[in-house]
Amino acid sequence: MKRPSDPDLELRGKLIRSLGSLREMLPGSFVERKRSCGQPNCRCADGKNLHSQFQISVLVDGKPKALNIPAELAEQVREKIEMRRRFESAAAAICRLNLKRFLKEKETR
Ligand SMILES: [Zn+2]
Repeated sequence: MKRPSDPDLELRGKLIRSLGSLREMLPGSFVERKRSCGQPNCRCADGKNLHSQFQISVLVDGKPKALNIPAELAEQVREKIEMRRRFESAAAAICRLNLKRFLKEKETR
């Protein structure tokens, strides 16, 4: 027999199940810097067509680091960092929901 559905529990289950797809998440923030390489004949010498340098800005052992990322991995890294944001937003939604349930249960004791 299936119990009458509780929308909160259904939502919580859905949120929990969504976390698995975020397992490749990365910490920190994604940074794109524009820079010139210093070569006088390069396209960047005009100061407009600059090179992109992609980085992960992240705390490693409590110290801020900027880790360089090869351009071909930049989009993948950007998505993985975005996963972390979605993970945290799902965790916050689960906590809100659990708090609501806890407070309700406390009242009925
Ligand atoms: Zn250049």
